Amino acid sequence: MIVVMKTGATEEQIAGVRKAIKELGFKDHPILGEERSVVAVLGHVYPELVDELGVLDGVDSVVRISKPFKLASREVNPFNTVVRVGGVSIGDGNVVVMGGPCSVDTEENVMITARAVRDAGGHILRGGAFKPRSSPYAFRGHGEKGLKMLAAARDETGLPVITEVMDARDVELVAKYADILQIGARNMQNFALLDEVGKAARPVMLKRGLSGTIEEWLLAAEYILSHGNRDVILCERGIRTFETATRNTFDVSAIPLVKRLSHLPIIGDPSHATGAWYLVEPVALAAIAAGADGLIVEVHPEPDHALSDGAQSLTPENFAKLVERTRTLAQALGRDLAPTGVTGEKARKAS
Ligand code: PEP
Ligand code: MN
Repeated sequence: MIVVMKTGATEEQIAGVRKAIKELGFKDHPILGEERSVVAVLGHVYPELVDELGVLDGVDSVVRISKPFKLASREVNPFNTVVRVGGVSIGDGNVVVMGGPCSVDTEENVMITARAVRDAGGHILRGGAFKPRSSPYAFRGHGEKGLKMLAAARDETGLPVITEVMDARDVELVAKYADILQIGARNMQNFALLDEVGKAARPVMLKRGLSGTIEEWLLAAEYILSHGNRDVILCERGIRTFETATRNTFDVSAIPLVKRLSHLPIIGDPSHATGAWYLVEPVALAAIAAGADGLIVEVHPEPDHALSDGAQSLTPENFAKLVERTRTLAQALGRDLAPTGVTGEKARKAS
């Protein structure tokens, strides 16, 4: 349910509505617009509440939200959420490109990759230090040592860092080094983890689960938003279907549909969607053509020697080509690549 305030409602009137919502035993979530503000009411709302809140000073109307996800829905917030990190804006209409290794392996490789991502015009460095692997015997990441390598690459290149957190107990540690916390596909419905990143002071990128429906995905985002963390980015990374010729099936229609249902930014991951480096560029361009706010792509200086996902990793040269073609396509569509952020330690402080 949302309480729509009258145009020009005063701060006192909004405060009065928030107080009343809390006194009735609900959680309040204000969305303050330039012209009009709304206050979302969270909890088990009942029909009489429409009248109880409707009579308060400064209230224009009280509207029930038809979707099961509330804070994630456009009904509650018609304005696009823009996530700002280290001088980069995600969701403002421009295209943001994130690139880097699947797994962080050596300090040297991370640095080479980070420089290549920066020089190609990429915006954000990706890299996994805690890796979700199907087999417990596969390489599972360097942990904190890997986070330190990412932080060193940020300090040198100025690129903000995105990295996965797999366990609610590690959120604080990962947030110490990362600019964006990644929730992997396998954890889309790890509710304890979603609760924890919802309380973290870092933006969160939530990947779609292997068999997550769009409604389940937006409800997962709702967990994070309901704790007060408004900086959520969605990532379509392909879903599991009967087709085995590609690693997953990229659900391109999810992009415009999510944009219609939600105000949250959405980016595409053509690497995990396809599993093959030569399919990455066409699927990346399809994601942008469908309206994605950006891309996350795996890059490795020597894909044949990557510790995970080498077959879908681009060389730095192919990543640079992809960024250029993304720019060309974005411009053809009246958009552009986003400006890159500020450099070095400043990138972290600004985020
Ligand atoms: C990854 O980004 O390296 C990853 C493991 O992705 P996903 O969770 O989409 O499989
Ligand atoms: Mn990977």
